[in-house]
Amino acid sequence: MIYLDHNATTAPSPEVVTEMLDALQGAWANPSSTHAPGQRARRLLVDARTRVASFLGCQGAELVFTSGATEANHMAVRGALALARGTERRRLVLSAVEHPGLLALARRLQAEGVPVDLIPVDAQGRLDLAAARALIGPDVALVSVMGANNETGVHLPIAALAALAHEAGCPLHVDATQLVGKSHFDFAGSGIALASVSAHKLHGPKGIGALLVRKGLALQPLLEGRQERHRRGGTENLPGIAGFAAACERTAHTLSADLARMAQLRQRLESGLLQALPEARLLGDAAERLPNTCCLRFGTLDSERVLDRLERAGVVASSGAACSAGGTQPSHVLLAMGLSAAQAKAGVRFSLGRDTRADEIERALDAAVRAIAPLLAREAADTCAALD
Ligand code: PMP
Repeated sequence: MIYLDHNATTAPSPEVVTEMLDALQGAWANPSSTHAPGQRARRLLVDARTRVASFLGCQGAELVFTSGATEANHMAVRGALALARGTERRRLVLSAVEHPGLLALARRLQAEGVPVDLIPVDAQGRLDLAAARALIGPDVALVSVMGANNETGVHLPIAALAALAHEAGCPLHVDATQLVGKSHFDFAGSGIALASVSAHKLHGPKGIGALLVRKGLALQPLLEGRQERHRRGGTENLPGIAGFAAACERTAHTLSADLARMAQLRQRLESGLLQALPEARLLGDAAERLPNTCCLRFGTLDSERVLDRLERAGVVASSGAACSAGGTQPSHVLLAMGLSAAQAKAGVRFSLGRDTRADEIERALDAAVRAIAPLLAREAADTCAALD
């Protein structure tokens, strides 16, 4: 099997597994306990915090461990709205291509009376900065935008948004889940007030992540309790946190070389597919993208059919289109880019990892062309028959 679904999740690396096992076996005590085993666990927590913070370019005190990016996103949005309560800042501004969990939260908040605006994107998936400028004003409580889109890999203009938010006097939250491990992310110099991160996207464990909270921002917690400086209650997930730290260190070790290699292999895969299959279209091809991600559609072939064929040919990829009992649902990201409903059901995402090898890409390319070409030929024949 050739695994090309690293934007969904990544396999934990050996050093991650080792550190998690060590934490499970050697530091199982409660880090809040004052006895010796508790203090051993506390030391591990302090050490892991320093390692994660160093990788993300933040201070240890700015790091709040959460159960992952979904929780971090919720904490950022609900916390910022609570912070602005009683002021004229009530509006929430998001991009139209945010993660489904964040968009669902926005819909719930909207139902609760919070005004929500979505910044549109263009046909390439690039954020409409003029629209952002018009929407970000003195009544905004929070601007929340992802660093790069999980489906297309298209970057969002974080520096420009940070400047707009700064001008309007409101915080900027960035869902950096897909940025970390696929770019040189540095919280300190970013102008971002809040950032969400998830360990399982960088070969760490699932169920652990963080919200980075800029020093001085007194964000209200989602979960009350004494842990994490009263910002996130609950006994710390020490094996997860240790695994997160190991993942950060391992990622930092070879990051530049990994980014360059992934970009080269991704280029080979997408140009090979575009050359061999004239009906293939690369989505966001003119936009700045993550080095590991390409999202293509093959005519209007339903992604579910393509993915099924690919998997039978030994290639695992994915689509942003959710499958449900009623069939494939169009991807909200591709719809926001102006694709038709049929086209928005056709997006197939290939996301490479740092361990993806050149020979795997050659085999995946060959298998994909052989799997998809007959489907396209059949679709063309069906269209001709319908025209007869
Ligand atoms: N945001 C983005 C952009 C993501 O890609 C994901 C994971 N698919 C999440 C949030 C959710 O992360 P987690 O699994 O850590 O909750």
